[in-house]
Amino acid sequence: MTHVFHRSPKQTLPYAVKGDGIAIIASDGKRYIDASGGAAVSCLGHSHPAVIQAIKQQLDNIAYAHTSFFTSQAAEDLADFLAERAPGDLNHVYFLSGGSEAVEASLKLARQYFVETGQPERRIFIARRQSYHGNTLGALAIGGNEWRRKPFLPLLTQAHHVSACYPYRDQQTGESDEQYADRLAQELDDAIRELGAHNVAAFVAETVVGATAGALAPVGGYLQKIRAVCDRHGVLLILDEVMSGMGRTGYLFACEEDGVTPDILAIAKGLGAGYQPIGAMIASDRIYQAILDGSGFFQHGHTYMGHASACAGALAVQHAIEQDGLLANVRERGEQLRAELHAALDSHPNVGDIRGRGLFVGIELVQDKTSKQVLDPALKTHATLKKKAFEHGLMIYPMGGTVDGVHGDHILLAPPFICTPQDISRIVQLLVQTIDAVLPR
Ligand code: PLP
Repeated sequence: MTHVFHRSPKQTLPYAVKGDGIAIIASDGKRYIDASGGAAVSCLGHSHPAVIQAIKQQLDNIAYAHTSFFTSQAAEDLADFLAERAPGDLNHVYFLSGGSEAVEASLKLARQYFVETGQPERRIFIARRQSYHGNTLGALAIGGNEWRRKPFLPLLTQAHHVSACYPYRDQQTGESDEQYADRLAQELDDAIRELGAHNVAAFVAETVVGATAGALAPVGGYLQKIRAVCDRHGVLLILDEVMSGMGRTGYLFACEEDGVTPDILAIAKGLGAGYQPIGAMIASDRIYQAILDGSGFFQHGHTYMGHASACAGALAVQHAIEQDGLLANVRERGEQLRAELHAALDSHPNVGDIRGRGLFVGIELVQDKTSKQVLDPALKTHATLKKKAFEHGLMIYPMGGTVDGVHGDHILLAPPFICTPQDISRIVQLLVQTIDAVLPR
């Protein structure tokens, strides 16, 4: 009997009692290797001493002071750290408590920017199918994850969706990356023209799609072409790096690798690595200045925004990543992970695609590799894989609906940045055992 209203109340969960590096230990003593960082969160594993110490120290000084009365050194230092490293003129950091809040704030800031700059008709958001931007109503409205949206459709404001950049399924035979990117950029351009550019506020995209489609990285040039389309029409570009950002791809900001700077960037998850709940929206000089020169007030806010112990924890996380050279480790271990997965699974009849960047890796499963026919959705293979992996002491993040919200299965891996080469090999070994048990060759 529990009084906790769990995510899936019919499911009985083990109790997590201790973190130990990349593992979580349950009350019965069983160890689980966290190969997904939960949901791409725990980038420093579960027992980082410097982060824990920084939070304790902040608590000893002051845990929380409402941000309408005070700022804190931790928030100021973390904002300095992020602004110094964020691409372009992304210099203004608005702290929140998670990813959905960061996306909601981004949408509202985009809208307020246009209200304050005399373009109040700009109200429409365009996003992509097979995307996820959060579960609050605004974020869900722009998201393209059909099964998550369906029951709530009557409550969602209207958003428009264009194609995801999904080379495995949508790049045509003989079509180069550049031609494919051109085609997708044209689709966005057409959508903006159809809606009337003067009505469109922003285009929202995950730099690398995470949970919904399994580490879908854009082809080279795609984001630059998208940026150009947005600029041509005065439409803002909001990039959601809640999952793909803060080092997950081997770059602190995933869009650095694409050479693109959005107008507004949403981050969370790896920012605080799960030690405290924290997210952030980072706005460009132009957007920030428009608010300063206009009303001088961003009409938003939450009770816990800029929470001092969350900021202190996140700052310690970011210092650890930098001081320990973990971005280089993410790139190297990511190469190793993909290479070992290819070696072990390329011959598997149900493994259609292995993809991703850094330690952000997706494996798409199919019924037939040649036709790319999906597995029967009724089998819920993704759910069986998650359960079987857990039995093997491995945490992975599989999902169904990869292709269109109903069809398709994938596994998402997002292991901690502190993984050693041996850790990666062990993860691959356990994963292959799991896949072979659920989908025998
Ligand atoms: N955006 C992306 C890309 C995400 O992956 C997620 C969560 O998985 C969110 C937003 C929502 O973040 P949160 O669950 O912290 O509200």
